[in-house]
Amino acid sequence: MRDRGRLQGKRVLVTAAGQGIGRAAVLAMAAEGAEVWATDVDASLLAAYAGAERVHAARLDVLDKAAIFAAVAAMPGIDVLFNCAGVVHNGAILDATDDDLAFALHLNVRAQFWAIQAALPRMLANDDGRGGQGRGSIVNMASVCSSLKGLPSRCVYGTSKAAVVGLTKSVAADYVTRGIRCNAIAPGTVDTPSLAERINAYDDPVAARAAFVARQPMGRLAQAEEIVPVVVYLASDESQFATGQVFSVDGGMTI
Ligand code: NAD
Repeated sequence: MRDRGRLQGKRVLVTAAGQGIGRAAVLAMAAEGAEVWATDVDASLLAAYAGAERVHAARLDVLDKAAIFAAVAAMPGIDVLFNCAGVVHNGAILDATDDDLAFALHLNVRAQFWAIQAALPRMLANDDGRGGQGRGSIVNMASVCSSLKGLPSRCVYGTSKAAVVGLTKSVAADYVTRGIRCNAIAPGTVDTPSLAERINAYDDPVAARAAFVARQPMGRLAQAEEIVPVVVYLASDESQFATGQVFSVDGGMTI
C-alpha cells in the first residue's frame, strides 16, 4: 500500500458492508487510507473485518432511523457516506404487494434519506480547507434498473432505485454551494452473494444464471471489485467537480 492513499484522512460510513459491493468498497477505501466505519445488519458478516487496518465494524440496521443517527453521532466526524444497503424484489407490478413496495421504499430509499439527514449537518460543519465550512461526499447506491432502464420483473426495485436518483439530484442541488457533493452509482448485474441466492431460488439455477448473463452485453456478470473504483473516485477529492450525477458501471447495459 502507498504511504498516502487517495482517501487519507477521510472518515467514511458504509452501510451493508457485510458482503458484496459494500464489503469490496470498505476494503478499497481503507486501502486508500480512509478510516472506514463498516456497518451491516448481520453482525456475523462483520467478523471478517477482525484485524483489518482502519476498519471499524459495527452492527447497523438501516431500517432503524434512531440507530442510523446514533451510528453517525458515534463517529469522530464524517466526510463520506456510502449508502449501499438495498433489496431486490422479483416480479412485475401485479406480483407486488403493498408490503413489498413499502419494504423496498423503506430499505432502498428512506434509509438513504435518513442517513443523509444524519450525516449532512456534520458534513456542513466540516472545515472546507479554504477558511470556511462545508465538505462532504455522499454516494448513493442506485442501479441501472431505475430511471435509466426498465428491466423485466423488477417493478418495485426499479421504482425504488429511480427514487434514489431523484434523491441524489435533489440533495446535490440543495447543497452544491455548501461543499457537499451527492452522486449515485448504477451497476449492472454484479456477482454478489445475494445474486447467487436469487439465482439459486429458481427451479433451474443454471438457466437463471444464463439469463442474467444474457442481459449483459459483455456476456458476463461484474465482480464487486469492478464497481468500487467509482465509489473510491466519488469519495475522493479527485471527483470534486462532480455532483448530482449517476455513474453507470454496467458492462454496456445502457449503451
Ligand atoms: P448483497 O445484496 O449481497 O448484500 C447486501 C448486504 O446488505 C448484506 O450484507 C445484508 O446483511 C445487508 N443488509 C440487508 N438489510 C440490511 C439492513 N436493514 N441494514 C443494514 N444492512 C442490511 O450486496 P450487493 O448485491 O452488493 O448489493 C448492494 C447494493 O447494490 C444494493 O443496494 C443493491 O440494490 C445494489 N445493486 C446490486 C446489484 C447486483 O447485481 N448485485 C446491481 C445493482 C445495484
